[in-house]
Amino acid sequence: MRVSQRKPIVAANWKMYKTGKEAAQLARSLKEGINLFQEVEIVLFPPFTALSRVSEVIVGTPLILGAQNVHWEKEGAFTGEVSPPMLVDAGCRYAIVGHSERRKFFGETDEMVNLKAKSSLAYGLKPILCVGEELEEREQNRTEQVLERQVKAAYAGIAEESVLKTVIAYEPVWAIGTGRTASPDVADETQAFIRKLIGKIYNEAISALLRIQYGGSVKPDNAKDLFREPNIDGALVGGASLKGDSFLAIVSACQAVGK
Ligand code: PEP
Repeated sequence: MRVSQRKPIVAANWKMYKTGKEAAQLARSLKEGINLFQEVEIVLFPPFTALSRVSEVIVGTPLILGAQNVHWEKEGAFTGEVSPPMLVDAGCRYAIVGHSERRKFFGETDEMVNLKAKSSLAYGLKPILCVGEELEEREQNRTEQVLERQVKAAYAGIAEESVLKTVIAYEPVWAIGTGRTASPDVADETQAFIRKLIGKIYNEAISALLRIQYGGSVKPDNAKDLFREPNIDGALVGGASLKGDSFLAIVSACQAVGK
């Protein structure tokens, strides 16, 4: 039984792994166990080239499809980019926006994150907005300042009625793909700060209902302790989502905590 008002959301970011065939296989392995986990929303983010294969596999199941990136324009001369309506057409309901790897390797700025978020919402895609500090920023006690800048920029111009169609993923950059997880209390304290900030930008009711995931080396053996924390509403999972059994173990931990 879920006690929280917020349905937890566990997302699998497959990054630039899996061919169409491999992604379909992984999706099939998840499909088998999934009906056990009705209290958790589960979203799969395959690479663009595998979207249609995964979409065929998960049709009629509670599994949801999402895209790892999105452009903000509807169409145009933007070689290599994919627009929100194209992703909706491919079966996506979510898009990851502002992942730290996009910020770091592809020059994605706070302003681009905001454009992507607004455009996704306009076309019916729910953005998972990624925010997080670098190690150096945490060590210099600048975490809150960085998160405040990222969150305020991401939500600029987003109306109150759209906020609950978004999800925030708090992903400390130093914990992504490093095997180094934020301790549950540090993650929770930071997510409480983000929640409070949303309350200041919008209002208490919205802040109480907005889902905030944690991301950064979530594994089957640390998931339960993270999910027990009051401000952690699921996870954005990279490495541990590439194998069906480890991803299902994380989803199962989330369900077991009974948020
Ligand atoms: C991610 O890609 O968002 C992520 C958190 O990766 P990992 O779980 O591998 O740290």
